[in-house]
Amino acid sequence: MFKAILIDKTDNGQQATLETLDEARLPDGDVTVRVECSTLNYKDALAITGKGSVVREFPMVPGIDLAGTVEASSHPDYRPGDAVVLNGWGVGEKHWGGLAEKARLSGDWLIPRPAAFNARQCMAIGTAGYTAMLSVMALERQGVTPESGEILVTGASGGVGSYAITLLNRLGYAVVASTGRPEEADYLKSLGAQELIDRRTLSDPGRPLARERWAGAVDAVGSYTLANVLAATRYGGAVAACGLAQGMDLPATVAPFILRGVTLAGIDSVMQPREVRLEAWRRLGELLPAESLDAITRTIGLDEAIAQADELLAGRVRGRLVVTLD
Ligand code: NAP
Repeated sequence: MFKAILIDKTDNGQQATLETLDEARLPDGDVTVRVECSTLNYKDALAITGKGSVVREFPMVPGIDLAGTVEASSHPDYRPGDAVVLNGWGVGEKHWGGLAEKARLSGDWLIPRPAAFNARQCMAIGTAGYTAMLSVMALERQGVTPESGEILVTGASGGVGSYAITLLNRLGYAVVASTGRPEEADYLKSLGAQELIDRRTLSDPGRPLARERWAGAVDAVGSYTLANVLAATRYGGAVAACGLAQGMDLPATVAPFILRGVTLAGIDSVMQPREVRLEAWRRLGELLPAESLDAITRTIGLDEAIAQADELLAGRVRGRLVVTLD
């Protein structure tokens, strides 16, 4: 038997409850993992609350990230006792996920746990930190260097934003954080933001082109915010678009692209090939001292995860929530 959050759909709508389940109910897969830690991402909060159409099959165990130890495996790369990490691949959306004491899944989706981190630290990073790393790598690919100028991070106090600031700062970039939470100024500055701007200055319709300011940006917000960020990106700059906290729409014009050669780089963490994941985690191990993760992270139990999902969607969670299963 194992404990899990189970999302089910009835005539009364979608409901998430903490359940004790028989292992016979685990889905197909060639590796069984004893989950040590998971985490609560924005997507997990959408799944648990039913506020976004994240879950594609019911009943579903949410949790797009997990870190744990292999208990049984018929996959050639994994043996019992191996420490592993999983991010994405539709886990927690269409295959039972990490907010449970056990998971059974395809070994092709796993990577060995990076030597730099323990299970809790991997989940402190989770999809949020790994997506922030992918976003920074995308800016690097577009030739944005610390000498290029200021980099804007939107959704700054959230998981992706917190890691984007931390990583960019450690790489020597000058980081400006856009936030709706001025009370988090000390926190954001401690991560490495040199300046803060009020997110309300970006959240309404703006002009197609604005004064050129940003050499690059990591945008976790979408909608008018992303349109305004593009409009103020300097000639030849690049913006990594990874989120939709304000909205899925992009009410922009092509002006920044055709008049300033701005690049919009799309970031998807879910289906990245294994080599890219390994490279992103290698860079995270290089750039994030394990002790820096504590400042960004709060640990909760599985029994608190359902209530915290509402808090996260309400924008009241700072940084990252690790869910411990031990
Ligand atoms: P999170 O911890 O909830 O952070 C989101 C942040 O966005 C909030 O902390 C808040 O920051 C800001 N925000 C919230 N509502 C807003 C609004 N209406 N207008 C403007 N800003 C708003 O979530 P997360 O885990 O960091 O994820 C951030 C986004 O990235 C989500 O949309 C998520 O779905 C997406 N994501 C995508 C990928 C991918 O593969 N592309 C991977 C991970 C996450 P402030 O309080 O500082 O303003």
